[in-house]
Amino acid sequence: MGVMMQAFYWDCPKVDNKEFVWWDYIQEKIPSLAEVGISALWLPPVHKPPNINGPSMGYDPYDYYDLGEFEQKGSVKTWFGSKQALLKLIELAHRNNLAVIADMVLNHNNGADEQEVNQRDGKSRWTLFNKIKSEKFFRSWDCFHPSPFKEKDEGAFGDMPDLSHSNPYVYAEIIKLAKWLVEEIGFDGFRYDFVKGYNTWLIKAIQKKEYTKNGQLFKPYGVGENWSGDSQIEYWLNQVNEDNDNPIDAFDFPLRYKLKELCDTFGFSLRELLSHETVFKDQPFNAVTFVDNHDFREREGPEIVQDKLLAYSFILTHEGYPCVYWKDYYNYGLAQAGTPHGINALIKVHEDFAGGSTNNLWVDDNLYIMERTGWEDKPGLIFVLNNTGDGWNGAWVSTQWQNIEFKPVAWWSAQDNSTPANQFVHGDGRGNFSAPPRGYTVYAPQA
Ligand code: CA
Repeated sequence: MGVMMQAFYWDCPKVDNKEFVWWDYIQEKIPSLAEVGISALWLPPVHKPPNINGPSMGYDPYDYYDLGEFEQKGSVKTWFGSKQALLKLIELAHRNNLAVIADMVLNHNNGADEQEVNQRDGKSRWTLFNKIKSEKFFRSWDCFHPSPFKEKDEGAFGDMPDLSHSNPYVYAEIIKLAKWLVEEIGFDGFRYDFVKGYNTWLIKAIQKKEYTKNGQLFKPYGVGENWSGDSQIEYWLNQVNEDNDNPIDAFDFPLRYKLKELCDTFGFSLRELLSHETVFKDQPFNAVTFVDNHDFREREGPEIVQDKLLAYSFILTHEGYPCVYWKDYYNYGLAQAGTPHGINALIKVHEDFAGGSTNNLWVDDNLYIMERTGWEDKPGLIFVLNNTGDGWNGAWVSTQWQNIEFKPVAWWSAQDNSTPANQFVHGDGRGNFSAPPRGYTVYAPQA
């Protein structure tokens, strides 16, 4: 399964002083990310947005086929760079065995060239996209709700014109776009933005379509941004994956909120981590787990600020497809390369040991111990999380192993980063495992 990286954060080109060269910046990092064990990059939207109040992150598409090639909306390049630089990035990623995921903003558009009257309701709206420089996927009033084909769909994003996928022209153009992104540009999968805004049949159609890559049939990866509670997300997953031979994942927002509490709320009970009000517990093979993303900022809800490695230790040892956030990895320095204390060590744990189902061996308010049972070439692990700041905390637990030594392979503490001792699981399966104050230890069985 691997580990995904979200290769951007809000306003990243400006904050990191990489305006119009973000693609080059990612390229610089690709070899080291590959070496650490990152296996996929989720890129920000690649198309040209209208850049209405300055450069845009792209969540308001104007010209889907201008990837930084045409002089319009303020520049040839997008805020992230030129089409050429994007193509170079994708090529380099592939040479390093990294998949590249495109951010599909299919619910709405922005920055139309002219206002026009909607012939269904007689109201004037910005819906005429007729000066698009790529000269592909022109749009007019009947491409948006209310259209002659549908009055409205599941939702709109603010007052941005809401694409009417029921218009056969729009549908055909979106399928063509997906095909172009995979077959011409080189993308390996899609992250679907704001899926609450439209019906699942469109995603199903994109996922089920047959693509060709290097002369072979190819199935793209998919993950949807359904920002809601676990029951809504699981309902959506069941819908989008019903009768779908290329099923997709969903981001585990409910888990993210629990991890936020784990890190930032004093007195959070670790028993909450066993709750089934998360996606990864109920649909482990369709959950993308994450700690923060580009939308967690200021008014939308703050980032996790305290002891964030506790959250990373959780997603990189448990089920689900973990996604590491660029800002945490680079800007907040949580990679901790060359040490057992950061994201790098946890990615290695994920890749080398974290396989099989999870057995919870101990849980109380401040101590959580589980084992991954192992699967194929991954032998499993024991994970201990200690929520108290009052010293080391551990317990004797009954594991699935016998007569085997365990070594700490990743650990961190807000207070004490001394190396945890090796532990021995005895003939009766019992062993004593512990973690440092406000910290975690991952133990791996020694062959
Ligand atoms: Ca919509």
